[in-house]
Amino acid sequence: MRVLLPFLALYRRHWFRISLGILLAFITLLASISLLTLSGWFLAASALAGLAGILTFNYMLPAGGVRGAAIIRTAARYAERVVSHDATFRVLSHLRVFTFRKILPLSPAGIAKFRQAELLNRLVADVDTLDHLYLRVISPLISALAIIAVITFGLSWFDPYLAMTLGGIMLALLLLLPILFYRAGKPIGRGLTALRSQYRTQLTTWLQGHAELVVFGALNRFRSDLNQIEHHWLQRQKQQANLGALSQALMVLATGLTLTLILWLAAGGIGTYSQPGALIALFVFAALAAFEALGPVAGAFQHLGHVIASAERVANLIAQKPEVTFTQHDLVKPAQVAIEIDNISFTYPEQPQPVLRNINLRITQGEHIALLGRTGCGKSTLLQLLTRAWDVQQGEIRFNSTPIADYSETSLRSMMSVVSQRVHIFSSTLRDNLLLASPTASDEHLAHALKCVGLDSLLINDGLNMWMGDGGRQLSGGEQRRLGLARALLHTAPVILLDEPTEGLDAETEQHILALIREHCRDKTLVLITHRLSGLEHLDRICILDGGELLEEGNHATLLANEGRYYQFHQRAKALETV
Ligand code: ATP
Ligand code: MG
Repeated sequence: MRVLLPFLALYRRHWFRISLGILLAFITLLASISLLTLSGWFLAASALAGLAGILTFNYMLPAGGVRGAAIIRTAARYAERVVSHDATFRVLSHLRVFTFRKILPLSPAGIAKFRQAELLNRLVADVDTLDHLYLRVISPLISALAIIAVITFGLSWFDPYLAMTLGGIMLALLLLLPILFYRAGKPIGRGLTALRSQYRTQLTTWLQGHAELVVFGALNRFRSDLNQIEHHWLQRQKQQANLGALSQALMVLATGLTLTLILWLAAGGIGTYSQPGALIALFVFAALAAFEALGPVAGAFQHLGHVIASAERVANLIAQKPEVTFTQHDLVKPAQVAIEIDNISFTYPEQPQPVLRNINLRITQGEHIALLGRTGCGKSTLLQLLTRAWDVQQGEIRFNSTPIADYSETSLRSMMSVVSQRVHIFSSTLRDNLLLASPTASDEHLAHALKCVGLDSLLINDGLNMWMGDGGRQLSGGEQRRLGLARALLHTAPVILLDEPTEGLDAETEQHILALIREHCRDKTLVLITHRLSGLEHLDRICILDGGELLEEGNHATLLANEGRYYQFHQRAKALETV
């Protein structure tokens, strides 16, 4: 329950609308009770007057009252729905933006813990479920309490004993039913929240991985898992519906029993009237109408387990601390950047072994270096550390002698163009995918960048309006890479970080791309990760990483002369060529 407190605190921001909603709900219930009570009494009194032959019975006033109560009930119900839903949507929109703001800084490190569908589910469905809290729990509970007080007070004018009996029964039900149905509904609610999330995650995975599942013939197995989750989910929904029906049945039973009791007690006399006549109808109908206020309470608490489970999941997401926090202090973008990597070590969270150990590297302004090493030796990690996707645990990285932690996120991003190992293509137009790197670039500019990387063929049919499909599926691996490179060309920055930009390209295209990179980076600082040995002779320095340490560094000629690891790479490549 405590998990709900921060969410309840959010309601304070809209206290006026919320209080007004509760007041209107109360007025609606009151009008409803007045309508039934008054009309019940009126019909009974008219019948009795007719039987007794009384000709002076004033029927105008009660008839007016009945009509008035009916009109107030309709108007108040309408206003209550408008006001309370408006308040709930305001709280939800605040909560959604608040949750999204919390998710953003987690990117990319902290977010990797959650699967995409899981994140979306928390942001959309779980936040949505929280609207039950006010609409189905708080508002009905408060209105019911107020109604019990008013009914007991109102009826005690006629007979305090009868009024207290009715009020006591209703209060006992109000205290008992929520506890009972909360307990019964809790496991069902938790199950519903978990299964909904599982189902959506599995469904998204199924849709996203459809091609792979078909290739490996795993479609049916995956589908049957999905069906099973759906089956469990439906079962839970059925259980909840059954519980809902049970709560309603119990309410009907409680109403019937209470009415019989009140009828029996009232028949024995009301207050000072030993022959109460139409007043019996007043009491009976008042009791009948008052139970309308209790109706939603049992149902509400049955949903509370669902609400609490969702609240826990949203709270868990909100509580995530970003791995990296940026200062707000923007620094002027320098024309050139020297990078100093000073004795850094880095271990991924929850991993036993460090990926990088005591790395020292000085890259001067405008220098071009290549990072080489076996797969998994930490090259991409080093690049990510330069972009502050993670923070180092030991040592420091400085740009122009300023620690990178002193740059705001905007300053840091404006200083570098990055092509990461996996280029993400957005499901949008070619133009949008490029504008990402340079929002103000003209179409000519974008087309020129594409031409530079040899992708002008993409422009043939729809030009820049070409639709890229989900994750750029209709592009080849090499095309995706070159699109990433085109983005990097468009984003003018003094540091260029490229993670295997020529992977998957044929030798001719590779030469062309490498020449383009050299030309583009003429007075920029370049860090190029590669597994390919071609073109490295043009770079200023080559650094070999191994087992998380910097093994060798020097230019192509020196390293070859040293006959170390770089030399071995060359020998092996030559041997493979001759095979
Ligand atoms: P490749 O040449 O195959 O791209 P790499 O040198 O770029 O390899 P990295 O991607 O830096 O290698 O990974 C270095 C090591 O860190 C690997 O063992 C990898 O499994 C591990 N690793 C990478 N990313 C993470 C992560 N987010 N969490 C935990 N471990 C990670
Ligand atoms: Mg890599």
